[in-house]
Amino acid sequence: MSKEELRIQGEKAMAAATKPIVKLPTKIVRQCGRCGEFTSVMVEPGETAPEFKCKSCNKPAQRG
Ligand SMILES: [Zn+2]
Repeated sequence: MSKEELRIQGEKAMAAATKPIVKLPTKIVRQCGRCGEFTSVMVEPGETAPEFKCKSCNKPAQRG
């Protein structure tokens, strides 16, 4: 391997180490106050968490 190749490899390693930080969605887990069910929701960076909805309590009421 030549010196030039070594230099290029080193630059590639540096570029990989200093890549920009990607903001990821945040997972928020909340517990329902009525049934105790945990509901997780993904919140995009810079956005506020949506209104809490329990997947159990907010089910359409079954009639009949
Ligand atoms: Zn609930």
